[in-house]
Amino acid sequence: MTERIKKLRGLMNEAEVDAFFVTRPENLFYLSGFSGSAGSVLVGREQSYLFADFRYIVQAAQQSPGFIIVEVPGSSHEQLHKVLEQEAVVTLGCEGDHLAYSQYVALQEGLSEIDLKPFDGLVEKLRLSKDNDEIATLEEAVRLADEAFKEILEAIKPGKQEREVALQLEYAMRRRGAERAAFTIIVAAGRRSAMPHAVASEKTIQYGDLIIMDFGAVYRGYHSDITRTVVLGKPACCQLEIYDIVLEAQQRGIAAVRPAVKAMDVDRAARDVIEWYGYGKCFGHSTGHGLGLQIHEKPWLSARDETVLQPGMVVTVEPGIYLPGWGGIRIEDTVLVTPDGHRVLTRSPKQELIALG
Ligand code: ZN
Ligand code: ZN
Repeated sequence: MTERIKKLRGLMNEAEVDAFFVTRPENLFYLSGFSGSAGSVLVGREQSYLFADFRYIVQAAQQSPGFIIVEVPGSSHEQLHKVLEQEAVVTLGCEGDHLAYSQYVALQEGLSEIDLKPFDGLVEKLRLSKDNDEIATLEEAVRLADEAFKEILEAIKPGKQEREVALQLEYAMRRRGAERAAFTIIVAAGRRSAMPHAVASEKTIQYGDLIIMDFGAVYRGYHSDITRTVVLGKPACCQLEIYDIVLEAQQRGIAAVRPAVKAMDVDRAARDVIEWYGYGKCFGHSTGHGLGLQIHEKPWLSARDETVLQPGMVVTVEPGIYLPGWGGIRIEDTVLVTPDGHRVLTRSPKQELIALG
């Protein structure tokens, strides 16, 4: 944590602010280790403060050694103002992309002498490349999802509802130690698999259905994200054909992941394959996204993101082909950028379309 605060102070220096006020929960956790649902952090030039209400004082002291814990009644900024005065802050940075406008106004009211400067993604800049602890935690989150996938393959039978599959995936992850599912689990069978973000419904799974399962686990705050598409019964040849195209696109995308490559180039590599086979219009979303303390974070593996990949970044690679009225196929892995290329963290099998039953 101290290393992270040090790096933030470096950015604060560049941005010419005396102190930085952090409200986004993920950034709060990243900097202080505090996991309560309400609180804020002020990083000054030398001291760091954690503001929390009565419910969290003991927890804050345990989770955030090195921080001065300040108890605040509700959402009042009175204590913060006192600290700012004490610290002789002239310019205060805040998270312009998170702080609600009403909070911004309330904050500014008591700060007549202080210049309040909003920033976009200052702490997020630090979060882009994960350190070894974060990578180990992410690997565990990925492992929990892999284990759940292995288990669900035994459980999918004709007549089972999509939402039963989703529930079972979540149970399998949580039983092994996941805090929760990383997002609302997607299970989409048959024609519904043509909707890239179909939340699990009451639809019962039938022979011949393609089944897209997109899910992940949260472990110690970190998210994993995996998609596998399987078929119930003997696969039709067009299902095999489309699966192989998506797999080829995904592998090309993964092969492009390495330091110094732009995020948009990974998207291009995967998209080129799908376009070459004539399905470009059936792949309407981006190829992937960063993940960590949030399920979707920078960099975006999209046509427009020029972020240059660096070791420690963790991204998903998840191309898909969706044909309305027929179904869809998506394959998604979590991939770590390493100094000499990449390492695929997801271990679930994908080399061929898995046929169940
Ligand atoms: Zn996903
Ligand atoms: Zn994803």
